[in-house]
Amino acid sequence: MLDGKTKSGMAERLASIVGSDNVTLLETDAVLNAHDAWPLSEAKIRTGELLPIADVIVFPETAQEVAEILAVASEMEVPVVPVGGGAGTCGGTLPIYGGIQLDLKRMDKILHIDEKSMLVRVQAGVIGIELEEEVNRLGYTTGHTPTSLRASNVGGFIATRSGGSMSSLYGKIEDLTLGLEVVLPNSKIIRMKPMPRHSVGPDLRQLFIGSEGTLGVITEATLRLFPRPELRRFRSMAFPDVHRGLEAIRRIFRDGITPSVVRLYDPEDTAISMSNHFEIQDGDCMLLLAFDGLREIVALDEEKAVKICLEHGAKDYGEGPSKRWWEHRYDMYYPTELTTSGFSIGDTIDIVAPYDKLETVYYSMKAAMEKHDAFVMSHFSHMYQNGGSIYMIFFTSQRDAKTAWEVYKRIWDDGVAACLREGGTMSHQHGVGLSRSTYTEDELGSAFLVLKMIKAILDPIGIMNPGKLGLGVKE
Ligand SMILES: Cc1cc2nc3c(=O)[nH]c(=O)nc-3n(C[C@H](O)[C@H](O)[C@H](O)COP(=O)(O)OP(=O)(O)OC[C@H]3O[C@@H](n4cnc5c(N)ncnc54)[C@H](O)[C@@H]3O)c2cc1C
Repeated sequence: MLDGKTKSGMAERLASIVGSDNVTLLETDAVLNAHDAWPLSEAKIRTGELLPIADVIVFPETAQEVAEILAVASEMEVPVVPVGGGAGTCGGTLPIYGGIQLDLKRMDKILHIDEKSMLVRVQAGVIGIELEEEVNRLGYTTGHTPTSLRASNVGGFIATRSGGSMSSLYGKIEDLTLGLEVVLPNSKIIRMKPMPRHSVGPDLRQLFIGSEGTLGVITEATLRLFPRPELRRFRSMAFPDVHRGLEAIRRIFRDGITPSVVRLYDPEDTAISMSNHFEIQDGDCMLLLAFDGLREIVALDEEKAVKICLEHGAKDYGEGPSKRWWEHRYDMYYPTELTTSGFSIGDTIDIVAPYDKLETVYYSMKAAMEKHDAFVMSHFSHMYQNGGSIYMIFFTSQRDAKTAWEVYKRIWDDGVAACLREGGTMSHQHGVGLSRSTYTEDELGSAFLVLKMIKAILDPIGIMNPGKLGLGVKE
């Protein structure tokens, strides 16, 4: 934390850039912004623990203002933490060393829709649902609909390499982002043109996609658009076990069928998520599918996929469970008893692995996490031609908060260790933030050196979001 005089001097300088209405020193604002949707920080707040807060929060409106803010921060050597929608699940926006929280919510303009090239240019602060609804009105979709669509913004999506629920068909945000504007820590504004493909050296856009505010501030992006599908069909198939469900999914992709939604729930998750609404046999694993596109192609894809599922021992539940999930996919915004009571805590470790390792990673992680008095339920939720992700969701209830935090950490440590040992990658879409920062070196191995060197060159003073992504942790 800065002393009072330095803090008010800095706030005055920031106010001269963005106007005094767009700078706040109020402690209540800082406390509200002291956490994102990381379950551990939320749980700590419920027990009355005070989290580190920012010295000042600033709301710029243009890239030029962002550049001037970074100039002040560099000169004063004060940390800057970019804030998007604040719905990240890994503590990425937590101001652990104080400093400036740079909140992009005022940068919320949809700048241009190019219907010919099917591209949309937006400021980074546009909330996902607002963009999606606007392009829907013109007959398009961004294809990017994460469950946090109502809460997160485009800059946050890009900064965390997020994944929408239909990523099997449309791709993740790294596939959907064609153009980028970024303000570097040295206040230079750089722009990467929106091109369908190029052959001019490495793809520099990918350096900033997933950089979680550690290399600069994303201020603008150009995203791909798709026509809204003529037809979307839902289908649900229940398998006797995880193995047969995964084999059916692998075959579906291998045969050239690309559903928009593919979600296989393990027995525990099937029981918890579906059995209140559908008659489910104990131990069954529900697969939810959706198909988007032209009427004839959707019909053919669905028919072929169902045939493959039946060949793998599935029972056909029609559209029911899949459609119900679709209609309620944003409901989890309203916390349930499971996540708010006593000293219970839950979280999700979202990992990814190729098909040849997916099942081993799943069983190893499950065993490693359950060892610590955790209830674990999972679904395989973003599937591709070569493999897919697993949402390993856990809950644990302990007698007091201190024990709960310790057990929570052990579940994470052993869960991630099992994932890496069996050849998985520790995050598919949530990013690293603070919660996974200590595992980054193990995950990246020898390539971590490259990330550290890039950080050292782009941000030599270390002002950008220190402590996140395994970078800039104070010794
Ligand atoms: C209920 C719920 C459901 C979710 N579902 C999904 C899902 O389906 N798929 C998925 O991928 N994720 C999901 N998430 C996680 C999260 O919402 C996403 O990771 C999202 O991309 C974060 O965006 P945000 O705007 O909320 O980012 P924030 O939380 O504000 O920030 C996340 C990180 O990005 C950095 N950052 C933000 N904006 C910028 C910027 N403009 N420039 C540089 N750095 C920036 C921040 O410093 C921080 O490190 C979910 C979260 C919740 C709470």
